Amino acid sequence: MTKDYYSVLGITKDASQDDIKKAFRQLGKKFHPDLNPNNKAEAEEKFKEISEAYEVLSDPQKRSNYDRFGKVEFGDGRSDFTWQDFSHYSEFNDIFDKIFGSFGGFSGFGDSFFGNVRNQGPDLDLAIRLRISLSDVYYGTKKRVKYRRNSPCSECNGSGAKDNKLNYCSTCKGSGQERVVQGGGFMRMVSVTVCRTCNGRGKVPVELCRTCNGYGSISTTEELEINVPRGVQNNQKIRYRGRGQTHQGRVGDLFVIMSIDDEKDIVRDGDNLIIRREISFAEAALGTETNVSIFKETVTVKIPPGTQPGEMIRVKGAGLPRMNSQTLGDLIVNVVIPVPKRLNARQKELLSQFEEESGRKRPWSRR
Ligand SMILES: [Zn+2]
Ligand SMILES: [Zn+2]
Repeated sequence: MTKDYYSVLGITKDASQDDIKKAFRQLGKKFHPDLNPNNKAEAEEKFKEISEAYEVLSDPQKRSNYDRFGKVEFGDGRSDFTWQDFSHYSEFNDIFDKIFGSFGGFSGFGDSFFGNVRNQGPDLDLAIRLRISLSDVYYGTKKRVKYRRNSPCSECNGSGAKDNKLNYCSTCKGSGQERVVQGGGFMRMVSVTVCRTCNGRGKVPVELCRTCNGYGSISTTEELEINVPRGVQNNQKIRYRGRGQTHQGRVGDLFVIMSIDDEKDIVRDGDNLIIRREISFAEAALGTETNVSIFKETVTVKIPPGTQPGEMIRVKGAGLPRMNSQTLGDLIVNVVIPVPKRLNARQKELLSQFEEESGRKRPWSRR
């Protein structure tokens, strides 16, 4: 199934990054599920589609892959988009703060919306993506991140009530539960749900706190130093307890999801690093030592005599650190032996002599 991300966002193939962002903002507002209570499911589907298109087209690398191959790989080689692949949560906050005011940002989404990302403390967990390099994985690093969350209102200590004065909820008589009767005649369904007036607390503010409008929390920008451990895996989640949303005395967790950028000349395979190294035919035949740069390190690799093209030479313990272990993966050097394209007269003569010495006729081109 090939999706046309450009038409999803209603833009043309030559759209600039600004155009893409603008389209995402406009459509995001239009199809936000909470703004479409009458066709929520449809809006959710559409909203996910828009977000997927934005995730791909706003990333130059993913966009160029999509332009060339008509598809994109998300985490673990999957071609299907899930919310875990979405790395623009801060853009959501930017857009939806304006719609939802001080209660904006993440809490504006329906409970099920980020399903697999917010897997605990249902509506209060947050997830952000942190882009790091393979070098960060090799050395470990610290990164400062900024994110928006609802933190407790200091004016009312999170109660939402002016001067902390609360009354029993008249809707549920303090039980925090609401009985809803549906249907008629002999088919009558009674369901018990959380009281919508007091949100299950059984109490309501006598007067709303002016600072937080009764929500007990206000939207703030948080700054946090993330300790990126050595050897971390792509899409690995690091959990920061109590750093998620706050709402009426409850607090969720923050999940920081690692997003590791590809390195130009180094491929990661688990804890191993694979690089290509060109050596000459003579070096391969006679054996040599060659220096390989791995980030800021130099590794000396022994090429034994008689090394063949495509051979993989393994340097034990020169790869990535393993998490929670003192050991390291391996460095694997993929040996490439190019055949020289231009030779001068003397090189030709020497190679011809070499062939004669090896018991073969002089090469035909020489005559
Ligand atoms: Zn109530
Ligand atoms: Zn307050």
